[in-house]
Amino acid sequence: MAYTFTFEPNNAPKQKPDSNKLGFGQYFTDHMFIADYNLQHGWHEGRIVPYAPLLMDPASMVLHYSQTIFEGLKAYKTTDGKVVIFRPERNIERLNISGVRMGIPPIDEEFALQAVMQLVNTDKDWIPTGEENSLYIRPFIIATDPFLGVRPSDTYKFIVILSPVGAYYPEGINPIKIYVESEYVRAVRGGVGFTKTGGNYAASLKAQMESKDKGYTQVLWLDGCEKKYIEEVGSMNVFFKINGEVITPSLEGSILAGVTRNSVMTLMKDWGMQVTERQISIEEVYEAYQNGTLEEMFGTGTAAVISPVGELNWDGKGIVINNGKTGDLSHKLYDTITKMQRGLVEDSYNWLTTVE
Ligand SMILES: *Cc1c(COP(=O)(O)O)cnc(C)c1O
Repeated sequence: MAYTFTFEPNNAPKQKPDSNKLGFGQYFTDHMFIADYNLQHGWHEGRIVPYAPLLMDPASMVLHYSQTIFEGLKAYKTTDGKVVIFRPERNIERLNISGVRMGIPPIDEEFALQAVMQLVNTDKDWIPTGEENSLYIRPFIIATDPFLGVRPSDTYKFIVILSPVGAYYPEGINPIKIYVESEYVRAVRGGVGFTKTGGNYAASLKAQMESKDKGYTQVLWLDGCEKKYIEEVGSMNVFFKINGEVITPSLEGSILAGVTRNSVMTLMKDWGMQVTERQISIEEVYEAYQNGTLEEMFGTGTAAVISPVGELNWDGKGIVINNGKTGDLSHKLYDTITKMQRGLVEDSYNWLTTVE
């Protein structure tokens, strides 16, 4: 069914940023989508309104107990001028998976998808051109009861905002240096590591700051119990190519099930490669490095798509991967996915949804 949302146009549109200097997540478009939830009406009153600050009660539960979830996906302009979104139904499905864990009432997936599509259509002139540029879509839900007791909120807002973005890492598709974190942990089994909820990222900041000071772009998290098995990077899943086989940590409840992770696994399997999901320890990676079988490592995520890793630091031991250069597999995956998103190679998996 087609949802109709009310529309209040922005009569004071902003000047659009220079598409060569976008960076990530700094600029926002002229409109946003909002819907409310209460016990009586469920999710209701979907509306597209001018982008503006929210007026909130300072007792709003999200501000105190972090009952909140978010998603991140992208819209692209194809070379023939169409507007497409990459696998949006997966993100909406995951929004609800996060919601169940965080005690947030599910949102009708078609309603949320329509919200995203109609908002992108409204602000489609904001989709930047340029090879690495796109329109980042940030749907999120916040708990809004003005109440200081600890319980699930009875009211929520579902909001979607849009941000024209460039390359996530200023380095582009160049390999990044990663610090293997052996002091702090991000998530434990039974916790909320598999959800996109604000607290996971707040909990990661101290480690991120310390690794930045040491000269690393991101941290690689190890499992929360033994600090032995590899989990993921800040906002990316990770893959290793060892002796021809591609290995990625299996989803055990503490790792985010990335849409990009799923996409690259599908591609590599169809290319006839051996792709294995299993637990992989940092020792195993170190041994592979020492005996010369560690061929490639890369991260996957919506923001950067593919991020080759050129170097790991594990307790002072340096692991240099592929001489610090981008590997062939990383290149091939990056090219295939980004070309698909631009309409330059056939969308044989039906991963693109056209906005019209
Ligand atoms: C978002 C995210 C990812 C990547 O997911 P995609 O759907 O590929 O963007 C991986 N790990 C974490 C912790 C994330 O937040």
